[in-house]
Amino acid sequence: SGVPVPSPGRRRVGVMGGTFDPVHHGHLVAASEVASVFDLDEVVFVPTGRPWQKDHREVTGAEHRYLMTVVATASNPSFTVSRVDVDRPGPTYTVDTLRDLRRLLGDAQLFFITGADALQQILSWKDADDVWELAHFVGVTRPGHELAATGLPHERVSLLEIPALAISSTDCRDRVARGEPVWYLVPDGVVQYIAKHRLYRGGPLGPRLGD
Ligand code: ATP
Ligand code: MG
Repeated sequence: SGVPVPSPGRRRVGVMGGTFDPVHHGHLVAASEVASVFDLDEVVFVPTGRPWQKDHREVTGAEHRYLMTVVATASNPSFTVSRVDVDRPGPTYTVDTLRDLRRLLGDAQLFFITGADALQQILSWKDADDVWELAHFVGVTRPGHELAATGLPHERVSLLEIPALAISSTDCRDRVARGEPVWYLVPDGVVQYIAKHRLYRGGPLGPRLGD
């Protein structure tokens, strides 16, 4: 499917939305690959406030997830982190994320980056019809999920094969809870952040910074 025709002079900005609980190398490789292939000037990571799909489980406080994302992206000059979702009250919907970024970034061309699992769910999103006007969507391969744009508008979606990293935040949390290492699954600074704040250790009352 089509890559949007480049408009000279317009900034090309990737948007990597996620819960990032915690951020891991699968997220970073996805952002890096899309930035390279689509010639992006910048990728903005946007940690969710309260993710509406994840109401069934306790998500780590937004401030911890935001700070881990800052730590993970700090060394890359073209990676930034936005607080738009963290600071917006109520559940996070991607249509609101894209509208806020549009307002903040002026006439930049937005490329919303999503793994194969999340791409399948777009049609169930709030105001799904509107999101196609706000960004071009790039679906990337993810181990264990079939990458397909079935039912999605083909001119608005590109599919991209990226290096396969079978890493998930769920697995990282479970590993920490079991006392197993997450070295090399998440950036070193995130390993240290998790240890320092005793995240994911289990028990009913985990740390709640800012939520
Ligand atoms: P959880 O297990 O808590 O759902 P996750 O690993 O799926 O965490 P999310 O924060 O839910 O991470 O995902 C943010 C985005 O990154 C989604 O679009 C997701 O599909 C994508 N993504 C996550 N992990 C990978 C991976 N290993 N490869 C490619 N894309 C990924
Ligand atoms: Mg997920």
